Amino acid sequence: MANNKQMLVCSMCGNVDSPSTPVVKVFDGLNLCTDCIGFIDEARDTQLKVRKASEKKGKKEPALSIPKPKEINDFLNQYIIGQEEAKKYLSVAVYNHYKRINDQEKQDKDDDVDIEKSNIILVGPTGTGKTLLAKTIARLLDVPFTIVDATVLTEAGYVGEDIESLLTRLLQACDYDVEKAQKGIVFIDEIDKIARKSDNPSITRDVSGEGVQQGLLKLLEGSTVLVPPNGGRKHPEQKLIPVDTKNILFICGGAFDGIERKIASRLNTHMVGFGHDGKGMKKQRENLMRYVMPQDLKSFGLIPEIIGRLPVLTSLEPLDKEALLRILTEPKNAITRQYQKLFEMDGVKLIFDDSALNLIADKAIEYKLGARGLRSIVETIMVDAMYEIPSKKVKEFVVDADYVAKQLEKAHFEKTKIEG
Ligand code: ADP
Repeated sequence: MANNKQMLVCSMCGNVDSPSTPVVKVFDGLNLCTDCIGFIDEARDTQLKVRKASEKKGKKEPALSIPKPKEINDFLNQYIIGQEEAKKYLSVAVYNHYKRINDQEKQDKDDDVDIEKSNIILVGPTGTGKTLLAKTIARLLDVPFTIVDATVLTEAGYVGEDIESLLTRLLQACDYDVEKAQKGIVFIDEIDKIARKSDNPSITRDVSGEGVQQGLLKLLEGSTVLVPPNGGRKHPEQKLIPVDTKNILFICGGAFDGIERKIASRLNTHMVGFGHDGKGMKKQRENLMRYVMPQDLKSFGLIPEIIGRLPVLTSLEPLDKEALLRILTEPKNAITRQYQKLFEMDGVKLIFDDSALNLIADKAIEYKLGARGLRSIVETIMVDAMYEIPSKKVKEFVVDADYVAKQLEKAHFEKTKIEG
């Protein structure tokens, strides 16, 4: 049977009325689909925020008070176990970065020495604290901070997020206060996943890799970028906000799986030249990551221009059992402390004895979960106690190895094991 009812078509995007995207007639000549109505709402909220933030413009922000590198390191020590070298490099780089910004803003600047920006690249296995380092620094400085995954970024014109969208998130992190965003920190995770597939520049285009690196370059070196306030490509009509990336600190992180081979082959040739004995070689192989150099990143597939814009290169060490044990209890917001606080609120003293901590660390290693897995293991163990204890009249609850083993078995935790 023919449908005589006239189809409503959205005047903004051309969507045809359907159960999933109904189109409503606003008035004669204007129909809108629910997607576009949502977008208009969002755009109005954004505009209000942009306007509010720009009213503050002109009122000069006071210079950032920057803690000294040692103070930054002390702060990091409260949250991050080990990774001493990375902490030191990061503390110095962040200190210099913000000193540079304050110097630029000085009215009576009497020299023309311009300090160059020092973006940072952290190389190290997954779950060793790269993101945590960047997050903790941002918390200390109280500057806008955002984390983006390099793998979702694509060149303009391809499916995925435009590179500018990472600045959208930074703007959103500070309610569209452009001045603030321009001094923020962006953590780009999984930078290694946009490596060129081979060291040789190829003639064929590499959508996910080199093109994205080229796009990032513009941001890393410092330029004015037009940012869609609500992100995405879906609504090209939004008013773009110019953001200057000159003073945004970019911290990139990546596991660079297999880079040890590149480092080893470089050290080998180098060492043959210097006539080293076999013993020295073995020692170097133990933790090759710490010898990472810019040329290894190039062999891995980062383009030289990107490497040049990430002058501070440092590595993170794999976490051994001792480090995992410390992570369980030492950091200010260590997972066991968080549970102790939750129990304390019910008047219960929660104790994790050494046998329990040892078993938790062992399981994290056995299941190849690293530090990230400690949380999921503890959560699995604690769920029953969290459920029952508040209704019981107990003053103390002790978690020992037997309890850990029993709870993990009950939850079929072994199913999370990563093979290989
Ligand atoms: P990645 O190196 O993959 O960025 P993350 O920083 O996201 O790793 O670490 C995941 C989680 O593991 C953190 O949120 C933290 O709970 C824990 N963690 C990892 N490394 C450390 C460390 N060195 N000190 C303290 N906690 C850590």
